[in-house]
Amino acid sequence: MNDFINSSIFDLFKVGPGPSSSHTIGPMRAAALFLQRGAAANLKNVPASLEVRLCGSLAATGQGHGSNRAVAAGLLGEVPENCNTERLNGLLSDETVYQADFGKFCLNFDRHSIIFDFKTPCLKFQNTMFMRLLDSDGTIIFELVVYSTGGGTIVVEGEDDNNGSIAIPPYRFRNMDGILRLSAKYELSIAEIMVGNEQVISELSKVEINDKIDNLIVRMLDSVERGIVADGVLPGPIGLHRKGGCLYRNSKKMKFEHERFLAQLNAWALAASEENAAGNLIVTAPTSGAAGVIPAVVKMLRETYAMSDEKLRIGMLTAGAVGMIARRNASISGAEVGCQGEIGVASAMAAAMIAAVHAAPSKVVECAAEIALEHHLGLTCDPVYGYVQIPCIERNAVGAVTAYNAYLLATAGNSVSQKISFDEVVAAMLETGQRMCSDLKETSRGGLARHSLCE
Ligand code: SF4
Repeated sequence: MNDFINSSIFDLFKVGPGPSSSHTIGPMRAAALFLQRGAAANLKNVPASLEVRLCGSLAATGQGHGSNRAVAAGLLGEVPENCNTERLNGLLSDETVYQADFGKFCLNFDRHSIIFDFKTPCLKFQNTMFMRLLDSDGTIIFELVVYSTGGGTIVVEGEDDNNGSIAIPPYRFRNMDGILRLSAKYELSIAEIMVGNEQVISELSKVEINDKIDNLIVRMLDSVERGIVADGVLPGPIGLHRKGGCLYRNSKKMKFEHERFLAQLNAWALAASEENAAGNLIVTAPTSGAAGVIPAVVKMLRETYAMSDEKLRIGMLTAGAVGMIARRNASISGAEVGCQGEIGVASAMAAAMIAAVHAAPSKVVECAAEIALEHHLGLTCDPVYGYVQIPCIERNAVGAVTAYNAYLLATAGNSVSQKISFDEVVAAMLETGQRMCSDLKETSRGGLARHSLCE
């Protein structure tokens, strides 16, 4: 595996159905891969059935995250970016028998074929999936073990982390210090470095990269717009009412501009996050649970600051760099490091975005990201009932506001005298996540999940 960062920003920002990138998008992609690999496998016997075992955090909170439905959708040929969310949300609700088409053979499956397995230990990662073809006496004749490592990324057991491409980007860096050195050496912004690398990694022209980023921005703004006009109760046992639209309407009546600004930033984050909780299409930024922070900031930059498309692209590329550095050197998975890796990283990405679109020097961009992440250190993942609603939705709003605040703090004084680097905070996040007890890492066995409606 290459040591430097060589993954595409389009692997970080992905369109897919909510509510969770690791528990919904990852399992859906894994099931699609299982179809593909099962079809290509050299099998002695024609399989009689299939089973999928969802282990670790996938078992603990998979019901609330719809992981079983995501697997079923993947087995039925759905792909996250164009997924029919209405159909997805209705899957496995009764005893319907579905058919998975492996090409050379088809297999029936139903709600009992996809198992929340609390007993089988995970292998290398908290979110482990055992995907099996069985013969008529239940013997396993083909098995694919897949990990969902966060942000919708999947890794197959026994294979290299396919997070990166084999391309060698022109600007090689492993961390923030590395990209800052490149920025100083070549007198390029972080966004310019990212574009140079992206052209090689994804083999796209600048125009194609811009088009893809523009599409992501449209999809993000879409999730905000849909959420702002949708009222009602979110799915699941909590009975949580949406409030993004309500706060936005209230903001229109607010007398003071500063109050309106803050209310709207909060409302946009709530709106996109509520769309995620409803299982509708969102953009992972860097995860689905954190899918409200960056869209809210993009909306603010467009609406309040009238930032151009070009500026927003710069912001997205800069945010992408921050997310990739956090993913490479720590994690963006709540199951691995808690919510500091999801909302914390999203807030850091958004802070860097705000600084970059204001043409701040790279050092100030780093400082903004550092401040935003620093004040999320230690944040646990404790979704009530395993649903990405409480504390997740309001946490997106708080993450967006923190991003703006971090930008303001970063622009005060001389950023060169900054005492803590982004890389140090990322290292602290990893260590904190490793020392965090597993009950506080997307299992719904600790924190708010224990001391609220579940008790
Ligand atoms: S608490 Fe944070 S990490 Fe956990 S599911 Fe909610 S948003 Fe994701």
